[in-house]
Amino acid sequence: MIQQMACPERGRLLKLYAEATRALSHHTAVLPDVAEGSGADAFDRTWGMCEAAKRRCAEIRQAMYEHIEKHRCGLRVMQTATTR
Ligand SMILES: [Zn+2]
Repeated sequence: MIQQMACPERGRLLKLYAEATRALSHHTAVLPDVAEGSGADAFDRTWGMCEAAKRRCAEIRQAMYEHIEKHRCGLRVMQTATTR
């Protein structure tokens, strides 16, 4: 049974997740401009940052699922995610 309660660790992970998705969104948003005007090296670098940000998002999401499963502090919306 998953309860809905305040949890500082869940809050911390959600904040990290928000930052990571913002970084992913930012690096992805500049890709078209970098592709047009900055040369292959800059494009590869930015692409690499997108990939790193994507991995970071996945890692934080996984950490969140694992925390919620152990601590039982998930919001109802997380229930489907943890049982996948
Ligand atoms: Zn918790």
